[in-house]
Amino acid sequence: MIVKIQDKKVKTNLISRTIDTSVPPKMVTGLRLRFIQLRIRLTFLKVITACYRNPVEWIRCIRYLIRLRRRFLGNNKVHKMVYINGKYHIGLYTPGWNSNVYEHYIAAHLNDYKPIKYFKVNRFNNVFMAITKKCALQCEHCFEWENLNKKDILGPVEWRAIVKKIQERGVSQIHFSGGEPLLKMDTLVQLLNSADKSTEFWLVTSGFKLNHNNAHRLKQAGLTGAVISLDHHDPALHNQFRHFDEAYYWVEEAVKNANNNKIITALSLCPTKSFISEENLMSYMELAKKLKVSFVQFLEPKAVGHYADRDVKLHQEHIEILERFFRRMNFSKDFSSYPIIIYHGYYQRRQGCMSAGKKGIYIDTDGAMNACPFCHKKTGSILDSNFDQNVEILKSEGCPTYK
Ligand code: SF4
Repeated sequence: MIVKIQDKKVKTNLISRTIDTSVPPKMVTGLRLRFIQLRIRLTFLKVITACYRNPVEWIRCIRYLIRLRRRFLGNNKVHKMVYINGKYHIGLYTPGWNSNVYEHYIAAHLNDYKPIKYFKVNRFNNVFMAITKKCALQCEHCFEWENLNKKDILGPVEWRAIVKKIQERGVSQIHFSGGEPLLKMDTLVQLLNSADKSTEFWLVTSGFKLNHNNAHRLKQAGLTGAVISLDHHDPALHNQFRHFDEAYYWVEEAVKNANNNKIITALSLCPTKSFISEENLMSYMELAKKLKVSFVQFLEPKAVGHYADRDVKLHQEHIEILERFFRRMNFSKDFSSYPIIIYHGYYQRRQGCMSAGKKGIYIDTDGAMNACPFCHKKTGSILDSNFDQNVEILKSEGCPTYK
């Protein structure tokens, strides 16, 4: 079944190139950035001293956090941060600083170094929940292809129970995906309204249906941010990749409406072999800057879902272009006014996988637990009573790609 478009205002093949003057994110740079980084270090000290009683442990913890940072970023210095809604954000999957969520997120990392007794530790950093199989698009790389537009088994009652269960274990961020989660607006609003506010909530969307009214409802209910897929800076090529004539139109609409409602915005790019070049990446970042998004995410293509059995894996030469570009954009002062790039492959090759039951899981549309949205090996249902045991099994089996 293909979901039909009901918004009559959308015309076939409409490509909007009028970039709206929506509320821009504030990029924090220079002296202000140094000042905030200093305050963040003070938060580390606050959490460390709350977690452990022994001053020797405090020193060891500081060293541990420095080592952890180096594993992700090397000796590179970060020259930008995003300020929105009273919080400072360094990445998509790190909760905003100055908040309790941020402190629990730091405690969860410290708990890996040495188990904590005196502070609440979040079991998960990021949990992805695919709340529907319905979608209007037919994307080239869709990882849920086999399930797309089949009957949804779980409804709002089950998803509320799932959110509650995960929140009871502690979670910094929950990302609602699908299918297209915006096709389940009422469920989304119900989930956000009923959830405990100790978690940041994000949406993973094609942008379809993120009109002003929906963005406003979601913000009122407590949505933090939206990750909106855009796979080419050329609107026609994005539409072609997504097999949907209004795909690009909805990206611009979604970004504008989210920005205007103070929902943090990110674009997500699947950089294919044919796309990857310095020139294309730069054009993409120019567009992302014009659209006023805070982050751009690179998600390398994987041979799953619609891409199964296809030769989509990037070669070393593609990875080198992406990594060089990522470093230039994020660590050079020349690009401090551009969105921050999040590049999972870069971190995973250096740090290993942080999902697969370690810090995150993917709950698919049937409630089955998987290592991540791309590794579809089900390890029991989230609704089972032995859920905690199954998460540990998932963790011990680990990620098949990045150890
Ligand atoms: S990738 Fe997302 S937007 Fe595209 S068809 Fe799959 S579920 Fe829909």
